[in-house]
Amino acid sequence: MNTPIAQKVQAPDIAAQVAYAMRIMGVAPIPRNYELFYEAYIGSSPKLTREVAALGNRATQEELDQIGRQFFGHHHRAEAIDGAHSKLSSQLEGLLQLLRQEQTSLESYNQLLDETYSRIANKNNTSAEIIRGAINVLSTATGDTISQGKEMVETVTQRSREMDVVRRELDEYKRIANTDSLTQLSNRRAFDDRLAAIYDNAMLHNVTALVLADIDHFKKINDTYGHPVGDKILASVGSIIRASVRKDVFIARTGGEEFAMIVEGNNQEEVMTIAERIRTTLEHTPFKNSKTGVNYGPITISLGLCMASEADGPAELYSKADIALYCAKNGGRNRTMPFEDGMKKDFSKSWLIYRK
Ligand code: GH3
Ligand code: MG
Ligand code: MG
Repeated sequence: MNTPIAQKVQAPDIAAQVAYAMRIMGVAPIPRNYELFYEAYIGSSPKLTREVAALGNRATQEELDQIGRQFFGHHHRAEAIDGAHSKLSSQLEGLLQLLRQEQTSLESYNQLLDETYSRIANKNNTSAEIIRGAINVLSTATGDTISQGKEMVETVTQRSREMDVVRRELDEYKRIANTDSLTQLSNRRAFDDRLAAIYDNAMLHNVTALVLADIDHFKKINDTYGHPVGDKILASVGSIIRASVRKDVFIARTGGEEFAMIVEGNNQEEVMTIAERIRTTLEHTPFKNSKTGVNYGPITISLGLCMASEADGPAELYSKADIALYCAKNGGRNRTMPFEDGMKKDFSKSWLIYRK
């Protein structure tokens, strides 16, 4: 035998002899090859020694592993590790693809996975090292990702809380912008929007009405009892109107002592009934100062109404309801008048001249 194994007598000790033989045969200095050459050197199995010696100086790793599997099956699991290696590689690749698609902010995680993937893909490393390295890197990356995820959840939660506060503030500003501060009813601005919206749905014109109401002789109330009392009466009239109709009836204070209602879902007769209910309720509500005993009442209103179907648009509807209100004032106040064709506002005679 001419192989280095056969020349064992020249070596000073077993370890050096094994290392020398491996170097001469061009065998990679990895643990499982040391094990193979050690066993072949000490001759624990003559068959093993023969097979290793027969490999000559050009042994491939595959040939060495084949002998290893034959004699040390429990240690030589290169195939299984390689299988796990390629499985892990393809899974990581898929995961990387997903992460890239997601374009998340977890760039450092991607970077770590990239590094892991290239390490695994590098076949020069031993499988055990690859797996160990991969596990270390992945566990670091996973740890980072978990804490990043927690941070992100906290940030998102905090942001959504802030957004909620801003949203509520905006809702409140919107409410204030559309509310009359004296009566807490809608204001002129909200009324104009709502009036314009009536003509968005032509199907509802036959069952939508505009009702305008104006307090009778309100100037006299102010003149007699003062403006602050007038304000209190205005606020009370607002709450009485609100309490007299369904929740879905839109009510606004459109100016000084004037109110407007948009009633949906009722024909003219029904709207007349609603308007009359408001009028009579107010007429019968006592306005007495409990401290001084002064009676400010009775407080009455005049109302004019017009169905949306009787006008071509918001401006005409408002104008016709106002003409009806004018007629109610002219007719003696404290009454409701529906708009009728032929009704006109006589500008030569203001309804003021009809004052009692
Ligand atoms: P008519 O029956 O013809 O409607 O008579 P009127 O006195 O109610 O009508 P006029 O338009 O002559 O007067 C309205 C009065 O409403 C004049 C004004 O002093 C009063 N007014 C308008 N806005 C307010 C307000 O915010 N507070 C108070 N206290 N009074 C107001
Ligand atoms: Mg008035
Ligand atoms: Mg008025």
